[in-house]
Amino acid sequence: MNKIEHIGIAVKSLDISIPLFEKLLNTNCYKTESVESEQVNTAFFNTGDNKIELVADLDNEASRGVINKFISKRGEGIHHIAFDVTDIEAEMKRLVAEGFVLLNEKPKKGADNKLVCFLHPKKTNGVLIELCQEIKT
Ligand code: ZN
Repeated sequence: MNKIEHIGIAVKSLDISIPLFEKLLNTNCYKTESVESEQVNTAFFNTGDNKIELVADLDNEASRGVINKFISKRGEGIHHIAFDVTDIEAEMKRLVAEGFVLLNEKPKKGADNKLVCFLHPKKTNGVLIELCQEIKT
């Protein structure tokens, strides 16, 4: 894995948290994007070589979304750590051989022009790990 690409933070409301993180990081949110495959809204901030991604459920009122489920169990806060990889399929194969459990069998289209795959936190000390590979166009 090349580096931490971003840290994902689960929030209840992007409307509240975007201005908060703009103040905190002293930089503007450069992109917001809905990710249909995950049913989430995301907002991105550059922090040097790495990024912060805020994630909220698509519908703020949807109590059954994955993010609200996470928040009801653990509160708002760090949701996942994403690592940049060069070849996501090779990395997925390597991790499966090492006994890790993938949450999706095939890479899927994530936010911010990435192919992504998540690892089950039960095999990673409770930390949700995301692999991401830039989609070259
Ligand atoms: Zn992410």
